[in-house]
Amino acid sequence: MTDGLFFRETLYPGVQVSYACDSILYQDRTEHQDLVLFDNPVFGKVLMLDGVTQVTSADEFIYHEMMAHVPILAHGAAEEVLIVGGGDCGLAEEVLKHGSVRRLTQVEIDSSVVEFSKQHFADFNAPVFDDDRFDLVITDGADFVARTERRFDVVIVDSTDPHGPGAVLFSEDFYRGVHRCLKPGGVLVTQNGVPFLQRQELVDGMARLSRVFADATSYVAAIPTYFGGHMTLGWASDDAGLRQTPVATLQTRFDAAGFATRYYTPEVHAAAFALPRYILDAVELG
Ligand code: SAM
Repeated sequence: MTDGLFFRETLYPGVQVSYACDSILYQDRTEHQDLVLFDNPVFGKVLMLDGVTQVTSADEFIYHEMMAHVPILAHGAAEEVLIVGGGDCGLAEEVLKHGSVRRLTQVEIDSSVVEFSKQHFADFNAPVFDDDRFDLVITDGADFVARTERRFDVVIVDSTDPHGPGAVLFSEDFYRGVHRCLKPGGVLVTQNGVPFLQRQELVDGMARLSRVFADATSYVAAIPTYFGGHMTLGWASDDAGLRQTPVATLQTRFDAAGFATRYYTPEVHAAAFALPRYILDAVELG
């Protein structure tokens, strides 16, 4: 929603954030959603889908590093990775920094988000489109995991919030589909919202994950764009030891991976699983 020279995010009924708009770079109604890209003096380029902020050029590294490096370095030998959603391709860029990854499949429902992000977010996603390990499939992510014969070490769901086309990616059926196409020792990571503002979504999401996987929890990251305190990232695996991978092991793997980060460190990785009480209560209710 535009408000003079501001775009107002319409995710929550009781509190809304407005972003100053220096200029509208692109605006369109795609086959699946309303898309707008504009320039903001603090966050740089801001992408909104259906009035909800998806990614900004200033703080995308926090979310994408924590979604990619935590499961891949905890797993330790991830060769086959699946991203569901992730149309801006910032997550793909982080995943492909891992030399261990032989193939990254990204299943995105809306080709126009990818096309558009390729043009406008080249500052962070350009390497993805030159990497022959990157395999883009345009279809519904829930359909894909229900049907594919392929098996993955790590599945990362970088979805919109549970409204519109993204709603299905929060369903128990979808989690069963992911469970079916994970290899033994595999792990699923999801975006679980900001629990201070979306507590019930966390409780419901954890309940669904716990019915499907032997071990389900969340870890946290503080992402300025997703305001309201910590954001939770859902974690689900049949291997309960994976989330307790020692810092020393993570450090060895991170050093071997040989790239620099701006948010992720092995210590931050381990600490991210230590949940503040109000978040732990919601996770345990689920
Ligand atoms: N980081 C963002 C956040 O948490 O707000 C999400 C970024 S990414 C742009 C979300 C992507 O999920 C969008 O490109 C959208 O088209 C895609 N998506 C939504 N529903 C989907 C579905 N059912 N299958 C595959 N992709 C989907």
